[in-house]
Amino acid sequence: MNIHFRKLANADEPAVLHEVVDVREFVKGRKDILAVAPLSVDLKALPAGTDSVNVVGTLKGEVDMLCSRCLSEVTSRLNIPFAETFKWLKQPILPEDEDEEIIYIQDEMVDLIPFVEETFVLHLPDSVLCKADCLGLCQKCGQNLNEGTCSCDNTVIDPRLAGLKGFFTKQDN
Ligand SMILES: [Zn+2]
Ligand SMILES: [Zn+2]
Repeated sequence: MNIHFRKLANADEPAVLHEVVDVREFVKGRKDILAVAPLSVDLKALPAGTDSVNVVGTLKGEVDMLCSRCLSEVTSRLNIPFAETFKWLKQPILPEDEDEEIIYIQDEMVDLIPFVEETFVLHLPDSVLCKADCLGLCQKCGQNLNEGTCSCDNTVIDPRLAGLKGFFTKQDN
């Protein structure tokens, strides 16, 4: 998935790029990700001033993760916006008025896949819930409390209140 600065500058139409990218390698380190569907990448590259190109579009995919409370499988649909500006530098020196928003490229061709990977990984959810009020698992027996209650005593004292209780006891003595 390449864009070519000189070719694009001379073209009348924006370049339309479409590719289905296998993103399994990109999520290798994430133990909470069970599966990830191929990412459908739809981008448009438009000339934007001297030696510059705007690339905009969307990355669409699907990721299966574990609910962070009850560990059931949750599928999330991803619809990630992509927008980057690339500038062809022609020489290995950054300009003095370097713009942090711009990605400077030395070659007259740039492979977009590493930038697609970066955007994709950045937009992956940190954690998911199967539902907002997921009850999670019983800490003692592991029962999924969404499916039914167990017979464990799970009365929890709020640690802040527990602290206060001790404070008042001391005062009384
Ligand atoms: Zn859950
Ligand atoms: Zn239990």
